[in-house]
Amino acid sequence: MRVVLSFVAAAVMSACCCAALFAQDVNPQEKIRSFEEYAPWLDPSLELRDYHIHLRGGMTPERAVERAKKTGVKSGVLENTGSEWPLSTNEILDKFVADIESLNATLPEDERLKIGVQVNDRDWYKTIDLKIYRRLDFVLADTMIMTEPDGTNTRLWLLPKDYDVDQDEWFERYFQHCMTVVSEPIDILANVTYLPEFIASRYDELWTEERMTALIQAAINNNVALEIQAESAFPQPKFIELALKMGAKFSFGSNNHDAALKDASVWKKRIEEFNIQKDSLWKDSSK
Ligand SMILES: [Zn+2]
Repeated sequence: MRVVLSFVAAAVMSACCCAALFAQDVNPQEKIRSFEEYAPWLDPSLELRDYHIHLRGGMTPERAVERAKKTGVKSGVLENTGSEWPLSTNEILDKFVADIESLNATLPEDERLKIGVQVNDRDWYKTIDLKIYRRLDFVLADTMIMTEPDGTNTRLWLLPKDYDVDQDEWFERYFQHCMTVVSEPIDILANVTYLPEFIASRYDELWTEERMTALIQAAINNNVALEIQAESAFPQPKFIELALKMGAKFSFGSNNHDAALKDASVWKKRIEEFNIQKDSLWKDSSK
């Protein structure tokens, strides 16, 4: 369905400028009418919340509220902060938070959105206005943008499949980068143990139990949840198994690019495979 929609939307885009409106009009999310229809396998007593709903591509706070009512999975909304990202200044971030707070003020407590940010600059906690930070329910980060020794930032998902680099040296730097990110004052680490395509086939060899243990322990020490993301292969099952054994907390997220619901089968698989219970879910404790 989504492939067809993208194709049609692209065709519309070339003809006029109303592609976003078009996508909203036929949003597959609208077809979902109930919790049972979206995730019949999900035990409602888990009280699952999606802490990774980006307000982009037609997704709005109002839609996130409606989505939660329809699917039974509560909503946590966020957008990217950083000098090259939509929330690039404290002023813009303040307005982003204030707009959602205004909506929340009109809603009963159990329908209110949790408000978050995804942080993409590694010095974010030195530049963010602390008064705004305290109004956030959660801060999410991933490790997919790495600062190089020369100070430039590499978006790892853009690296070519045949990236020519000393892979072992690269991974050692990447692992240290992961340890840095998990130690920041964040709440959720997304796409944990992510590897770019050029090195992904070496996952088992590079993510040794020792390294996984170190990352998980750092997350536990810093009260950071490890995200299980819809449609993502990371983290892989053996990492989740070890993290559960060590007592880490988990969160669930979509990481959407538009207003359509993402396929939640990865959530289902992990919850069932590892019998994830409510006490293993991270809960925000509003700052
Ligand atoms: Zn994201």
